[in-house]
Amino acid sequence: MASPFTRHSKRHLHLAPPFLLDDYTPRYLGLSSRDAAKKRSLAYAHLRNCNLCPRLCGVNRYETTGMCLIGDKAKVNVIAPHFGEEPCIQGHNGSGAVFMSGCNMRCIFCQNYDIAHQRNGMDLTPEELGQWYLKLQETGNVHNINIVTPEHVVPQVALSILHAAELGLRVPIIYNTSSYDSLASLELMDGLVDIYLADFKVWKPSTSKRLLKADDYAETAKESIKAMQKQVGDLCFTGDGIAKVGLLVRHLVMPGKEAEGAEIMRFLASEVSTDCFVNIMEQYHPDAHVGKKRRRRRIPSAEGEEKSLNMPEDADEEVRYSDINRSVTSDEISSVRGAAVRAGLWRFCDPPKHDGFAI
Ligand code: SF4
Repeated sequence: MASPFTRHSKRHLHLAPPFLLDDYTPRYLGLSSRDAAKKRSLAYAHLRNCNLCPRLCGVNRYETTGMCLIGDKAKVNVIAPHFGEEPCIQGHNGSGAVFMSGCNMRCIFCQNYDIAHQRNGMDLTPEELGQWYLKLQETGNVHNINIVTPEHVVPQVALSILHAAELGLRVPIIYNTSSYDSLASLELMDGLVDIYLADFKVWKPSTSKRLLKADDYAETAKESIKAMQKQVGDLCFTGDGIAKVGLLVRHLVMPGKEAEGAEIMRFLASEVSTDCFVNIMEQYHPDAHVGKKRRRRRIPSAEGEEKSLNMPEDADEEVRYSDINRSVTSDEISSVRGAAVRAGLWRFCDPPKHDGFAI
């Protein structure tokens, strides 16, 4: 007779033990004062010589900026309860989102372009940031504090969490990242973060060089996600269906890149955990530089007229990155999902199979 815990029945148990918690206390509340002091001094040291992400700028951020264009103060675009996250993250009350301006990546299809690529927002000290977390908790009654795009402001975020803990913060912290992190950043966040919400975007160096402007993206993301899993483990929930601790990996399926998505799924199953909670996302749409008209380089001719350089006469109709200038197809999505299942993954962020709330 088949065991009640065959893989087939296990598929329906991702909210059951061992992933179900009776109660949860955020990790930052368990830090000793000595460890907190160590983190503070490490955070200030990183700001004075910033090699916090794989761009390795080596700048003093009190005096200048590196590739992320952000100095010693975090620039924050939006702070609000947010209902655009996974059901287990946003719950009924929303996730307390803090959208950081700027980014250490340059994704040409950025789905958050107005925030990540443009330096709009208010400069906040770590203490001011921490006070905002409290407002989200007290006034917004949010389920968590969700730091979106924190990779380039890790010291400021670490200091803000330590400050907020002293003020009375009691909800879990989410580190919502592209996974283009350094191991030094993740070490600084160890003990401060409860949930890593990690993207894994593309697999091949040639693709990441072209689309993310970082040829070492996949290598970096692999090491980062393994380090995150080591810190917090598989995603766990309390009985209300809200995620409290662990790793959740997101993969945005890209047009024509389903084979890379399949590689990412195999990596997660073989090198992270077959119990890894995965959101295979379908909502890719052309944005940022994708689909924009190609710029024509014009040179003056001998007759004094301007002529286009190296472009055919009908080039006005050409657009940039035309290969990804469309939505994804259901075949591409099924292909990545199929690869994930074949690799042994089974905890997916799927829409509910009932009419009620999706938690
Ligand atoms: S966080 Fe910014 S300044 Fe620091 S290494 Fe990365 S891009 Fe450069």
